[in-house]
Amino acid sequence: MNPIVILGSGLAGYNVARELRKLDKETPLVILSADSGSFYSKPMLSSAFGSGKTAQSIAMNSAEQMATQINATIRPDTQVTAIDAAAHTVSIGEEKIAYGKLVLALGADQIRLPIGGDGADAVVTVNDLDDYAKFRAALKDQSTVALIGAGLIGSEFANDLTTGGHSVHVIDIAAWPLSRLLPPEGGALLQQKLAGIGVTWHLGTSVASIDREGSRLKVSLADGSAFDADLVLSAVGLRPRTALAQAAGIKTHRGIVVNKLHETSAPDVYALGDCVEIEGLVLPYVMPLMNSARALAATLAGKATPVSYPAMPVLVKTPACPTIVSPPATGAQGVWEISAKDDGLKALFKNGEGRLLGFALHGKATAERAALAQQLPPVLA
Ligand SMILES: Cc1cc2nc3c(=O)[nH]c(=O)nc-3n(C[C@H](O)[C@H](O)[C@H](O)COP(=O)(O)OP(=O)(O)OC[C@H]3O[C@@H](n4cnc5c(N)ncnc54)[C@H](O)[C@@H]3O)c2cc1C
Repeated sequence: MNPIVILGSGLAGYNVARELRKLDKETPLVILSADSGSFYSKPMLSSAFGSGKTAQSIAMNSAEQMATQINATIRPDTQVTAIDAAAHTVSIGEEKIAYGKLVLALGADQIRLPIGGDGADAVVTVNDLDDYAKFRAALKDQSTVALIGAGLIGSEFANDLTTGGHSVHVIDIAAWPLSRLLPPEGGALLQQKLAGIGVTWHLGTSVASIDREGSRLKVSLADGSAFDADLVLSAVGLRPRTALAQAAGIKTHRGIVVNKLHETSAPDVYALGDCVEIEGLVLPYVMPLMNSARALAATLAGKATPVSYPAMPVLVKTPACPTIVSPPATGAQGVWEISAKDDGLKALFKNGEGRLLGFALHGKATAERAALAQQLPPVLA
């Protein structure tokens, strides 16, 4: 029997493998991964500097430990170069591996913005354990870090690096942090609380150029201002990894296109996690992939199981301003109702009939998360 082959050892790949083993202990399972195959929680990467964690202490299990735990063959440091959907094989260079069923759990790349200057190549991103280890090694005591992007990941890094004793400048084209998830009032509160712990904001502008000045970098902004930094970290968004699927003739759009059964356009090829677009939704968060992993495991074990997503509020790891968001669906019609609550803020997004479609909670208002989440419509019914 040809094995089930999973490409990727992130939370999506390992969770679908674990869920599958609860239902099917026998079918041979092979996991091919371009990285070390260590099992770790990626969200920790933007909240681990302050507490001094190393890449080794973030990794919970090695590839060998995972292989034993889930009874699988795991090949780390193995870049899959092609998929032949008709022949049911994947290629690693010249080597071919046959699959019965194939699961794409390839994740997403950090987007890189075009920036001028002779120091532009010094911009780094942190998207996996290796990146984290390199960035951590480059940080000296009290480094000045320029952080491009004030979204979820950028805001978390800003809080974490500042707590870790570094001096952080955040640059974003938007007028307030987390502008895609928060109304202006919530963004202003987050901005103010992070400024309170020492973050310097450069909002409504962008990085024009980065130039080397000895061992330091001069960061020049479109608004004409400039400052010196030791490191530049970019966190401006993620792009699903679609190239491998696209080259194999598998349908892609913003992500690898799948239906609610996680089926791609190719027979016996499934996908989940940050690389997919499911019913038009690209949701690069942990909760959607956990729901997907359970449903896809049941499908792989022989019981076709469509996935559904309930409302899945996201905890923003900014202890300076505890924040939980459940943004309304893209294009949803409605208005934000804002109320200040103790030292926090409650923002409810409601439609014309008064139906709750999303929320953003800060400070003490975060205690209302569970009660409010129950009132929200499902993300995918
Ligand atoms: C810093 C940071 C903080 C985050 N914080 C949160 C949070 O607080 N809450 C939340 O819900 N989400 C958060 N996220 C998002 C969340 O971590 C991701 O949604 C999730 O980890 C994605 O898992 P994945 O398995 O789909 O992708 P990945 O973890 O990216 O795994 C992809 C895997 O595919 C492998 N691969 C890629 N190409 C190939 C190839 N050609 N051949 C073989 N293997 C290949 C890679 O090596 C890797 O093993 C955060 C993300 C980041 C970067």
